[in-house]
Amino acid sequence: MNYKIALIRGDGIGPEIIDSTCQMLDKTGQIYGFTFEYRDVLAGGRAIDECGVPLPEGALDICLQSDSVLLGAVGGPKWDNLPGHLRPERALLGVRKGMELFANLRPARLMPMLKDASPLRSEIAAKGFDIMIVRELTGGIYFGKSGRYDSPDGETAFDTETYSVNEIRRIGKVAFETARKRRKLVTSIDKANVLESSRLWRETIHELAAEYPDVELRDMLVDNAAMQLVLNPAQFDVIVTSNIFGDILSDEASQLTGSIGLLPSASLGATTRGLYEPIHGSAPDIAGQNLANPIATVLSAAMMLRLSFGLTEAADAIETAVDEVLAAGLRTKDIARGGPHIGSDAMTRALLDQLR
Ligand code: NAD
Repeated sequence: MNYKIALIRGDGIGPEIIDSTCQMLDKTGQIYGFTFEYRDVLAGGRAIDECGVPLPEGALDICLQSDSVLLGAVGGPKWDNLPGHLRPERALLGVRKGMELFANLRPARLMPMLKDASPLRSEIAAKGFDIMIVRELTGGIYFGKSGRYDSPDGETAFDTETYSVNEIRRIGKVAFETARKRRKLVTSIDKANVLESSRLWRETIHELAAEYPDVELRDMLVDNAAMQLVLNPAQFDVIVTSNIFGDILSDEASQLTGSIGLLPSASLGATTRGLYEPIHGSAPDIAGQNLANPIATVLSAAMMLRLSFGLTEAADAIETAVDEVLAAGLRTKDIARGGPHIGSDAMTRALLDQLR
């Protein structure tokens, strides 16, 4: 089997972490009997330099004609002062919209060997946690009607949270299907004590739950969820929530792991084609210095093998290699906490050596 992968190497450390990840993918393919054909997509800051726009014509087509998209990161200080429509991040919005990606999956796992890096109290960190946050990505207040008007109180602004049953059902399905492959618990987070859109969210998720009798459903209000993540994160398996609540809670959860250089993400739509990327940015402060931690991107590729291509064994092999390298005490600078560390190249070699 040959898989076509669109590569958005991007800016800053993007090209370095994508290079490491392609080496891991190629070796996984050799072991498990498949190949990858990579297609470069020019997007982000480099595209602005070369073509004058963040997402040149044809770039999205390559993504749509591939089996999946792997992204490093885009952006950097060089392009910070451009007008909004010319910023590198616009490329990502364009790709996400063009691929109709409505579900964002962000795992936040506290690995036992890295629990000292967590800001949580030691007795809470000792229990560890393994959470998958499923965030709705194309609806809600970020896409609802907004505006400004004059009122007797002065200039007034508004944003609107809107959700339809269809939007809630399709993100709910992703959450229940994901939970089926994990510990079979979905926590749906809303603000149903105040918001009408949350009441529709809750009703719809409960109706959907009847189709998944093997999965337990719990409701939680978002203010309580923000507290529970800090007090007892081990209680969560899959969290499903709206765009704005997911934005905030997934950043909170990722900080609890203490290491953003380790966290992958996936964005999915109605097809098996997805967009896979680390949650961190382009880290321009360390670009080109052999300091980038490739693990978040490598784990994003493992998510791609599992979720888009159904290659569970190969995905497990990559994740096991990461766990073993970390368990052996190897660290890039970002997770070394001032202790001894190795460069990106050496980390990539160690991961390749562990891959079986
Ligand atoms: P950042 O995530 O790039 O960096 C924050 C800190 O974490 C920096 O000190 C950086 O060196 C470190 N870091 C991040 N990833 C690392 C890795 N893999 N290995 C080692 N250290 C790592 O966030 P920022 O500094 O706020 O943003 C830098 C640029 O990235 C900005 O232009 C921003 O707009 C862009 N950005 C892009 C994306 C994306 O492409 N999806 C996401 C976030 C930010």
